[in-house]
Amino acid sequence: MADELGMDLFGEIDPPQRLLMGPGPVNAHPRVLRAMSADLLGQFDPEMTGYMNQVMALYRPIFGTHNRWTMLIDGTARAAIEASLVSLVVPGDRVLVVNFGRFGLLLTEILGRIGALVETVDAPWGETVPLDAIAAAIERFAPKVVATVHGDTSTTMAQPLEGLGALCRAAGALSYVDATATLGGMEIAADRWGIDVVTGGLQKCLGGPSGSAPITLSDAAAAHIFARRHVEQGIRRADITDGAGPRIGSNYFDLAMIMDYWSEKRLNHHTEATSMLYGARECARVALGEGLDARFARHAAAGRAMTAGLRAMGLRVFGDDAHRMTNVTGVYIPDGVDGERVRTAMRDQFEIEIGTAFGPLQGRIWRLGAMGYNAMKHKVFITLGALEVCLRCEGFAVSAGGGVEAAIAAWDA
Ligand SMILES: *Cc1c(COP(=O)(O)O)cnc(C)c1O
Repeated sequence: MADELGMDLFGEIDPPQRLLMGPGPVNAHPRVLRAMSADLLGQFDPEMTGYMNQVMALYRPIFGTHNRWTMLIDGTARAAIEASLVSLVVPGDRVLVVNFGRFGLLLTEILGRIGALVETVDAPWGETVPLDAIAAAIERFAPKVVATVHGDTSTTMAQPLEGLGALCRAAGALSYVDATATLGGMEIAADRWGIDVVTGGLQKCLGGPSGSAPITLSDAAAAHIFARRHVEQGIRRADITDGAGPRIGSNYFDLAMIMDYWSEKRLNHHTEATSMLYGARECARVALGEGLDARFARHAAAGRAMTAGLRAMGLRVFGDDAHRMTNVTGVYIPDGVDGERVRTAMRDQFEIEIGTAFGPLQGRIWRLGAMGYNAMKHKVFITLGALEVCLRCEGFAVSAGGGVEAAIAAWDA
């Protein structure tokens, strides 16, 4: 049946088989999609709470942590970002944001809504912030919380985080990291880095759909958040203040309530998104089954191959080589080439999606990802071959096959 706009409202969902080689989302691993079609359970069914406990255990190694509080926030990656900030920060708190791209700006935007006093320590897009600049900013600003991003897909840069936790702890600050774009693809070492709260998403290197956001919290962060709790045993006590400061300004994203739900208390909060939990559990099983080191090496090989292939085609790769994310590569759109026409041709001729860019990089670079289930040899090589053809059609001189051959050599380098 077609409505007046020609939409086939009663047609089955039957999307084209696109290869998603942008900065995310990417194609989900088939095992994840199969897991998500399993039958539903009641939220307090022992099988369901058993799966919740398994998810906690499965995500600890993925975050590089022994944190008890390792769980899922129902929503896309931004849900876990917002839950972390709204639960850690009260209006008037001083928060330092280590900002080197669009997702650093997102942190400042959310913190502004909360009413925090935000200061940023910035790097130009395409670079990262040196640790001594962060140390100086902490010293100068005396923040209660330091927030940053690990891999910022908007610039394709990965911020080094070794040593950041110790700096924060010495200054009495809690630390937060958005690791959405790198979790499951580059090493995340929450414990070794000493980061208090780290969050992720499924639709990047974990190879799942968007809609579930893994999170881990240190005991110190959990204690800080529990001290702000104003709801006990399901009874609202809005009239009671316990001297811990303002209440957490969100119910859905109140991490104290969500931790109570994931604890043995099983205090009802929202209804856990069952199918997403199955998907998140399978993402972790796939990742740990492969082995994290092997997985990081696979993403590194894909990034190396992509970068080498693009360079061999005569293109200029964006950003600082020393701090490149392995799983997404930015490349300048050559002069005289219409970036959007090439993206359209990639989709129309080859069923391949590559990414545009935001803000200062809009219209200047494409972003090519190879993440999770898509960080595979053939997908990288096919993408490079297709890009070469689309560039030649646009009149950009590129020699046949050179990019793919360089990528093949670089994969095993
Ligand atoms: C992709 C990405 C997100 C995405 O958030 P969603 O809410 O899942 O769209 C957040 N942070 C970073 C660093 C990302 O790369």
